[in-house]
Amino acid sequence: MSAFEYRNKKLHAENVNLQELAETYGTPCYVYSKATIEKNYRAFEDALRKWSSRICYAVKANSNLAILNLLAKLGSGFDIVSIGELERVIRAGGDVSKVVFSGVAKRSDEIRRALIMGVDCFNIESIAELTRLDAITREMDVQANVSLRVNPDVDANTHPYIATGLKENKFGVDINLALDIYQQIEQCSHMQAVGVDCHIGSQLLDLSPFQTSFEKVFALVDQLASIGIVLQHVDLGGGLGIRYQNDDHPPSAAQYVEILAPFMEGRNIQVFIEPGRSIVGDAGILLTRVEHIKETRDKNFALVDAAMNDFMRPSLYSAWHDITPIEQTANSSTTYDVVGPVCETGDFLGKQRPLAIQEGSLLAVHAAGAYGSVMSSNYNTRLRAPEILVDGEEAHLIRMRETFDQLMANEIIPES
Ligand SMILES: *Cc1c(COP(=O)(O)O)cnc(C)c1O
Repeated sequence: MSAFEYRNKKLHAENVNLQELAETYGTPCYVYSKATIEKNYRAFEDALRKWSSRICYAVKANSNLAILNLLAKLGSGFDIVSIGELERVIRAGGDVSKVVFSGVAKRSDEIRRALIMGVDCFNIESIAELTRLDAITREMDVQANVSLRVNPDVDANTHPYIATGLKENKFGVDINLALDIYQQIEQCSHMQAVGVDCHIGSQLLDLSPFQTSFEKVFALVDQLASIGIVLQHVDLGGGLGIRYQNDDHPPSAAQYVEILAPFMEGRNIQVFIEPGRSIVGDAGILLTRVEHIKETRDKNFALVDAAMNDFMRPSLYSAWHDITPIEQTANSSTTYDVVGPVCETGDFLGKQRPLAIQEGSLLAVHAAGAYGSVMSSNYNTRLRAPEILVDGEEAHLIRMRETFDQLMANEIIPES
C-alpha cells in the first residue's frame, strides 16, 4: 500500500490531508512519507540479512538533513560524491566510518578533508585519482582504504544520461585493467585495497544488467584472490528502479538481492549496496497549485506554480511522473500540458494529461522523492520550495521556503 492514498476523495500523505498541508506551508512544496522511507530501507536490510552487509544510501538522491538523520538512525551508511555531502552526513549524525566516497573528479582538498574526517573507503574511478590519493596519503602520513570502481561495460537499458556502466561513460576504470591496478595499489605504503565497486546506472527495471555486472565483478574478486589480493567487500552500487508509470515493473529489493545469492555461495566477503532512488523515490510528492487554465485552439495548458527549477526530471530526462488532483471529483476531465511559469518551452511537468481541474486546484506530482528537491535551482529568481516530512498524523517542516534575502545574500554590487 502506498502512503499517498485517497480517503474520502482527498489525497493524504500517511494520515495527513494534503490540502491542509498546502494551506499551512504554501505551494510548491515537497512532501515525504517517513514510513515509506523506513519500509524501503528495511526491505534491503531484510533481504541482505543472510550476509555481512552494509547499505550505503546514495546521498545525492535526497540529501535533506532530516532524511539523512532518519537513515542514520536506521543504521545506514552513506555513499557520497562530494565533500558537501560528507558535511551533510556529519551534521545529520551519520557514522563517518560507514561512508564510501565515490565520484570521478575528487579535488585534493576534498580528499584531505575526507581523510581527516575518517571516511571508510575511497571508491577510486581512475589511475589519475589513485596517483593523487597516493601522494596525499604519503604527504599526510595517513592510511586510506580504497576500492576500485570498475566499469563492466554493460548496457543498463536506461536513459542515456543515467547509464554509467558502458565503456564510453566517464565512470570507473575498464574492468580488464583492474588486475594491474590492484597490483599497483599493493605497492603503495599508505593505501590498502579493501574492496571493489561498480554502479552501472540508475532506474534499472530489469535484473539482467545487474546479473551481468555481478558476474564480471565477482570473477574479478576470484582473480584477485588467486594472486593473493583478498578483498573484504564488494560494493554493487545502486540503480534499482522504481515505478513511475503503470507499466513499470521494477524488481523488489528482495528479488534484486536474490540474484546475488549464487555469487555469495561459500564466500566470506561483505556486500555493500548504494541505493538512492529505491529508498526515497516513491516516498515523496511535489504539491503544486493551478494558477491559470489556458485553453487554445490547439492545446490546453494547466499553468502551475511549480516549474523546472523546482523539479527538473521531466525537462532533463523527459521523465514521466503521474500527476493527479489532490481532490477526486466526478467532473469530466480535459487533456492538459502541465507547465510551470519559467520562461522555457522545456518547462513542463507532464504532457497530455487528462485532468478534472480548475484554477486553484492542487496537484500532486508523484514519485518525486528522489532527484527532486536536490536538483532544484533558483532559475528565474524563484525561491526553493520547502520540504515536509510526514510521520503518521504529524507533519514536520524539514526545510523552510527560501527567502529573497537568503537567495541574494552572496551577491555583491561593486563600489565604483
Ligand atoms: C547515483 C549513484 C548511486 C545511486 O543510484 P540510484 O539509482 O539512485 O540508486 C549509487 N552509487 C553511485 C556511485 C552513484 O553515482
